Amino acid sequence: MFEPSYIELSRSALLNNLRFLRKRIGSHVKLSCVVKGNAYGHGIETFVPMLCEAGVGHFSVFSASEAERVRKACSCGHDIMIMGEVDGDALEWAISEGIEFFVFDKHRLEQALDIAQRKNRKALIHIELETGMNRTGFEKSELDWVAEKLEEHPEHIHFRGLCTHYAGAESIANYLRVQRQMRRYREGLNYFESRGLSPEVRHTCCSAAMMMFPRNRYDLVRVGIMQYGFWPSAETFVKYVMGRKNRKDPLKRVISWKSHVMSIKEVSPGEFIGYGQSYQARENMRTAVIPVGYSHGYSRELSNQGRVLIRGQRVGVVGIVNMNMLLVDITEIPETEVGDEVVLIGYQGDMEITVASFGELTNQLNYELLTRLPHHLPRKQTD
Ligand SMILES: *Cc1c(COP(=O)(O)O)cnc(C)c1O
Repeated sequence: MFEPSYIELSRSALLNNLRFLRKRIGSHVKLSCVVKGNAYGHGIETFVPMLCEAGVGHFSVFSASEAERVRKACSCGHDIMIMGEVDGDALEWAISEGIEFFVFDKHRLEQALDIAQRKNRKALIHIELETGMNRTGFEKSELDWVAEKLEEHPEHIHFRGLCTHYAGAESIANYLRVQRQMRRYREGLNYFESRGLSPEVRHTCCSAAMMMFPRNRYDLVRVGIMQYGFWPSAETFVKYVMGRKNRKDPLKRVISWKSHVMSIKEVSPGEFIGYGQSYQARENMRTAVIPVGYSHGYSRELSNQGRVLIRGQRVGVVGIVNMNMLLVDITEIPETEVGDEVVLIGYQGDMEITVASFGELTNQLNYELLTRLPHHLPRKQTD
């Protein structure tokens, strides 16, 4: 643990968010926590055990390698669902381990059937329907073929789920397209049921769809961003708080990214600070050096732009963000000392540096900024 900065995950914030989500979705709908992208940058190895402890029993990941990490991170009995990449040896492993996976083309279904027969196991599959996102999923014209396979091999293929994914449920701009996707999903579901093939769990919703279109929650929702305390978009937040007396954000950010003051320096008026001439002192200034730079995931875009918290106050980055260091202006906080805590993302007292402010001011980027947090930063749990 000699890393110059670290990530803290707040247990109370997570429990708060899970309470909120469970109350929204009710007890008859299952919650699957989406932990792809290294648990949205939070770190699978730290975050998944926290979910297990909170009683979460279903995890969604992108790939077999993430599924393996979830398995290792936590030994509580849980289900894992791979929504993306799983092939060859990884598929053999998934089937042997009873890991569920999306099937969205004929090749994967044939491969899964072949492995299940060879190993005399049952593959737990979720048939994904193409409803309008045009990414992955079976076309309507392929459903007869799929249904026949399910009918012919009940001992090796278990029809665990029928699912789809919406192309942007977080924005009203996509309303009609998403509505059409919902209709097509229902048609696909009716098709299977009319052939006497009922999936065990029907699921279509990510966080945004779960909030915006509650009637489409079916049996399970795949919630990513909201469990971490972020809204999928400003629209989803506004729709939720409109008409409520209490307009406070009910979610709490789980993640903080912290470092400390490494060194302090006085700078005279007229001097340039850091590389080049991007920042010139206008008066006597004090700067603090923070041992975090772009190689640690603190973007160079934040040169002369970023904000951090020191001693409960917001201070600005001065000059260019370096590979391993950045400088902040602490002229207004003369009591600052070497070793003081520096918050790059998260809370300090009543102040917060949001992930959105950390990049450009859009919520959509939360996803990208979070997942870009480097794997090598140490993660730890706090209350
Ligand atoms: C990432 C993902 C989700 C979760 O999305 P959030 O917006 O983070 O809730 C759900 N379903 C699929 C298929 C996904 O890829």
